[in-house]
Amino acid sequence: MEPCAKPEPVREFIPYGRQSVDADDLAAVAAVLQSDWLTTGPLVEKFEYEFSKWTGAVHSVAVSSGTAALHAAVFAAGIGPGDEVIVPAITFAATANSVEYQGGKAVFADVDPDTLLIDPEDAERRITPRTKAIITVDFAGQPCDYSAFFSLARKRGLTFIADACHSLGAEYKGKKTGTLADLTAFSFHPVKHITTGEGGMISTGSSELAARMRRFRNHGISTDHRQRTGRKMWEYEMTELGYNYRITDFQCALGVSQLKKLNSWLVRRNEIARFYHASFSGSPIMPLELLPEIRHAYHLYVLRLGPGIGKPDRRKVFLRLHEMGIGANVHYIPLHYHPYYRDKYGLKRGDYPAAEAAYERILSIPIFPGMSDEDCGSVVDAVFRAADLARSGRRPGWKK
Ligand SMILES: *Cc1c(COP(=O)(O)O)cnc(C)c1O
Repeated sequence: MEPCAKPEPVREFIPYGRQSVDADDLAAVAAVLQSDWLTTGPLVEKFEYEFSKWTGAVHSVAVSSGTAALHAAVFAAGIGPGDEVIVPAITFAATANSVEYQGGKAVFADVDPDTLLIDPEDAERRITPRTKAIITVDFAGQPCDYSAFFSLARKRGLTFIADACHSLGAEYKGKKTGTLADLTAFSFHPVKHITTGEGGMISTGSSELAARMRRFRNHGISTDHRQRTGRKMWEYEMTELGYNYRITDFQCALGVSQLKKLNSWLVRRNEIARFYHASFSGSPIMPLELLPEIRHAYHLYVLRLGPGIGKPDRRKVFLRLHEMGIGANVHYIPLHYHPYYRDKYGLKRGDYPAAEAAYERILSIPIFPGMSDEDCGSVVDAVFRAADLARSGRRPGWKK
């Protein structure tokens, strides 16, 4: 059978993020597609095992998306109607939505204007007697202040959930994300660090929470099909209301294969970030600030357009970049601007000053391991041109 012809690219467009899939990945997926188990099979456990080995987490539970991972974590934390959970005011909607799925209330906390990481002091101010958990986000791939949030959670009796969908492979004080909170959620969407098409994982040190999430991803049923087949039995019990959040074995085969390349991809993401940093230094285009004692995972590279090229010209910069074939993007619109949250909780402009001010100036430019040195140079040139700025004399080289 002839394989489908690869479509010709219309032009060389550089998106803000893109997966890398090679022949080993294809072979791994094809092998599983021809096996007995397409779902609830041995590759799910294998992926969980390899993932735990990679991050150092005790338990990892694979699910169908990053959103399902967050929902499972919120469920495992026992969040229900009337409970409040603190989340950052700037993040992808799924962070907050996971709380709402369980009937809880997502309470936003403002972010640090220089890092866009959730501000521990503002988070603490928003704790009420109804607060049950806090969800941090490692914005753009930089770990939040895990020590601060861990102590805050212990002091106030909260479950600490980390949304690490941006930060697979990142490190905080030498420890990888996935080992630093009570529950940590990851995503394997194609723009993230490794992909399974759609997919997600939750890591935890608690065997009880892990068992709860395994039931949750399978309708709230205590055993799965393969376990019952192995034990020659049909009986099962549904003990709580779960969902079908299972991930397939062929997706997990892709995950296992992708994981082997994760470290080299993180190295490349950091290399690109250093090049961008050096290229924009001394210009009115400012990257987000970096904290000490971290390894950044650079899911995103977020710029802040300085005075004169910020509001009202960000849209112009964005549109010009698209005309030049650069897929710039904005991460993210503050959550309280979305009609669902604005109207449900009566939120308004002015409620989250740091998030709002940052939102006016941020722009994400492409960063993914498949970018060539030349691609990165084109992005920098395009950003300077789009912002009507003369590029400063120094052109950084590639230090590898
Ligand atoms: C990608 C992402 C998610 C959701 O992941 P999906 O796999 O797309 O469901 C959640 N939170 C953050 C911060 C993300 O970036």
